[in-house]
Amino acid sequence: MNTSGVVIRVPGKVNLGLSVGPLDSDGYHELVTVFQAISLFDDVTVQYGAEGTGIILEASGSTSAGVPLDSSNLAYKAADIMIRRFQLTSDVSIHLKKEIPVAGGMAGGSADAAGVIVGMDSLFELGLSRDELQRIGAELGSDVPFGIAGGTAIGRGRGDQLTPVLAQGTYQWVLALSSSGLSTPSVYAECDRLREGLSIARPSANDALLQALRAGDAKELGKALSNDLQSAACSLRPALRLVLDVGREYGALGCIVSGSGPTVAFLVEDEEKALDLTVALSSSGVVGGVVRAGGPTHGARRISSF
Ligand code: ATP
Repeated sequence: MNTSGVVIRVPGKVNLGLSVGPLDSDGYHELVTVFQAISLFDDVTVQYGAEGTGIILEASGSTSAGVPLDSSNLAYKAADIMIRRFQLTSDVSIHLKKEIPVAGGMAGGSADAAGVIVGMDSLFELGLSRDELQRIGAELGSDVPFGIAGGTAIGRGRGDQLTPVLAQGTYQWVLALSSSGLSTPSVYAECDRLREGLSIARPSANDALLQALRAGDAKELGKALSNDLQSAACSLRPALRLVLDVGREYGALGCIVSGSGPTVAFLVEDEEKALDLTVALSSSGVVGGVVRAGGPTHGARRISSF
């Protein structure tokens, strides 16, 4: 029987380290970041559409409210680029089942684009290599290649030039979600404003962080978490400081604003600490929701076909 559709599971990410260089003349910042894929997933279904319908996009799931379903959606853009690049003549219908927070600093939109690229490669039997898939992803956004790769990786340039990181162990995360997102460009703009007049070094890898990952040492990893965008995210959303305080008080090994925020990620030692912190955060009144996730996990991969 021919396949008429595929379901691709794609992970969200946390940035364990994010070093942000000065603003370039082209308006971007050079980055060195360490990504970890975590077990909070969107499921992207890609199937043949009825003839003449073009690209159709639908969304469901706990975080789908307000996600644009037009050509501004990164999943739509991914389908469009694949159709043009490979001169595909069939129409496609895409369904996003979203659990990754929107505008939460967890690269949900990029994950969906990664899912569409991998899904269309599979559905149309294009036989592209991981490198080719990631190169197409990089044309859509700097976090897309990591959505395809998963695991733990260093991203350089704009975050899109990936190298896998030698990492041992698995890590437990408690994530404090906000009820409204933060726009990534506005967080970078705030970072530039806070740095005005300072001389900013080129971004660099965090050696303590990489050493902790090599050793699989959660305690050291907790101490080494770092994010140059954290002050900017907290400046725009002062309540994040209260959220970070709850984690410190309840014994998290480390806490960090993920990417441009406002999701805050807490690294915890074990199940008991995860439960304590989940209860404390839920009753604190300063978060929009709490979810737990483990990492690292796989990148975009097919979980079923029909
Ligand atoms: P990053 O961590 O890569 O900066 P983010 O996780 O903060 O991204 P996204 O969830 O990717 O942010 O969404 C940012 C904005 O992009 C949303 O406010 C939404 O309007 C738009 N968007 C486009 N495509 C998608 C998608 N597939 N899912 C969610 N948002 C999308």
